[in-house]
Amino acid sequence: MFDLNALTRKNILDLKPYSSARSEFNGEADAWLDANENPFSSHYNRYPDPSQKQLSQAVADCYQTDPQNLLLCNGSDQGIDLLFRAFCEPKEDKIMILTPTYGMYKVSAAINDIETINVPLNKDFQPQINLIEPYLEDPKLKMIFICSPNNPTGNLINQEAINYLLKNFKGLVILDEAYMDFSPTESYLPNLNSFPNLVILKTFSKAWGLAGVRIGMTFANPPILAVLNKIRPPYNISILIQRFLLDFLKDKEQVKENVSDLNGNKSKLIKELSSFDFVKKIYPSQANFVLVEVEDAPLLYNYLVGHRIIVRNRTNEIANTLRISIGTHNELNQLFKKLKQFQDEKNPIY
Ligand SMILES: *Cc1c(COP(=O)(O)O)cnc(C)c1O
Repeated sequence: MFDLNALTRKNILDLKPYSSARSEFNGEADAWLDANENPFSSHYNRYPDPSQKQLSQAVADCYQTDPQNLLLCNGSDQGIDLLFRAFCEPKEDKIMILTPTYGMYKVSAAINDIETINVPLNKDFQPQINLIEPYLEDPKLKMIFICSPNNPTGNLINQEAINYLLKNFKGLVILDEAYMDFSPTESYLPNLNSFPNLVILKTFSKAWGLAGVRIGMTFANPPILAVLNKIRPPYNISILIQRFLLDFLKDKEQVKENVSDLNGNKSKLIKELSSFDFVKKIYPSQANFVLVEVEDAPLLYNYLVGHRIIVRNRTNEIANTLRISIGTHNELNQLFKKLKQFQDEKNPIY
């Protein structure tokens, strides 16, 4: 049985959260004399709506879900941090990650003094249930992070494996769908109804093109979000951002076009890369990046940096791999030019 109270840190369970002036009264009024704000209008002299009501509705609509299943944060990273602080007792509890994967889970765990259990994905970057199984009964294991499509490998994680963990693990399964908007595959959001221990992370930083704005989404059932809301800074999304995003969401067609353009550029990148003899393997990708295995990743990485082309060197996690984000046509053409030059310098024809 899923027991949220047993998962929650005792001090958080007992916590009486800060009650902001605007959370106690948030209707219409003739005089706002409750929050020590400056009454002279600068357009930003009032505190933002701590319940994020209007924005939550608009964002939930984008994903055909209910705003009561959504908490907006200052980037997914804040969502991840709230999960640690709500459910993981420092020096006692543990989390599990399936490696190689996004580096932030482990860092957030270390910041909160939580042990990370690393279980490797198999050679197709899929979970190995037989290796995970022995840990599932450990009551100190609070969260399992699954990233799908996975960063840096680009593949989707098998749904059977995700469902198995959701059914057999009493802690929280955190499914990071930061890149799901690039994939034709269905999000796991409709499964929130079936699994009380499912938490889904999404972000405006990738497909939506708003990494600089810092907005992340944490989707879960209301009891989990109620715990996170207890510890969330009440005004974590500024008025500036709330207004900007509401406005931005009025033109969602542009975002869809961008995603389809990027997927086109991805096909082009894969095709071009496969023509170089130093490229050993191109991993299939459902995201806006491609992981490539090359003959000598550090050599190529340094060559590209020397020519002002920056990619991500993932050699420490997967030998001789580079992760290349899908850029504009122009950026990719610059990359191809330098790769060609690298190949020619490596194999002089004379
Ligand atoms: C980029 C990325 C995010 C986004 O984090 P933000 O804090 O929302 O910018 C989340 N998860 C993964 C796996 C990512 O690669």
